Amino acid sequence: MARYTAAVCRLCRRSGEKLFLKGSKCITKCVFDRRGRPPGQQTRQRRRPSERSFQLREKQKARYSYGMLEQQFKRFFAQAERQQGITGENLLVLLERRLDNVVYRLGFADSHAQARQLVQHGHILLNGRKTDIPSCLVKEGDKISWRPESAKTEYYKQMAEEIKGKAVSGWLSLDKEKVVGQVLLLPTPDDIEAKFDGKTIVEYYSR
Ligand code: SF4
Repeated sequence: MARYTAAVCRLCRRSGEKLFLKGSKCITKCVFDRRGRPPGQQTRQRRRPSERSFQLREKQKARYSYGMLEQQFKRFFAQAERQQGITGENLLVLLERRLDNVVYRLGFADSHAQARQLVQHGHILLNGRKTDIPSCLVKEGDKISWRPESAKTEYYKQMAEEIKGKAVSGWLSLDKEKVVGQVLLLPTPDDIEAKFDGKTIVEYYSR
């Protein structure tokens, strides 16, 4: 499966804000704090960004945050458009329902990239079955757990300790002893701390 492989800190610099794509490293050692300008730009830009570039930036922020390539992101947008309701909100909810995102929200991974890798490498079970498709959408009542073999690794043992001190989003629950998460309800736009505006993304694709 194709994925972005260049330095992710460039994506934050291009977006003009910290997107926290590298987990705990973003707290301790962030290049954006030293070099916040877009890559290749040596001096501060004086011109105000056009409306179109603002819309593009919002769309890119969403895409980078969930670690998606353009084609896949467009497919999610098309699906959001086909659903009833407000497209921008539908998109937010669809993105949040991705299995790799849920793995990240449950605290099983430090970043979206790491969560995607855990899913792709077959460490995660969805309702007791191995599921290695990061874009798979979770439903209400779904259970997310670990493959028994993966639960013997050092990574798992350390993660199981760390999640004891973490809280999860209200639409999820987590049994911290068994390290099993569950989708209590589908997320609403209010549950999602998005770094981008869904309405602006709709405007971007509407042109
Ligand atoms: Fe972005 Fe994290 Fe890199 Fe900072 S360390 S620029 S927040 S990815």
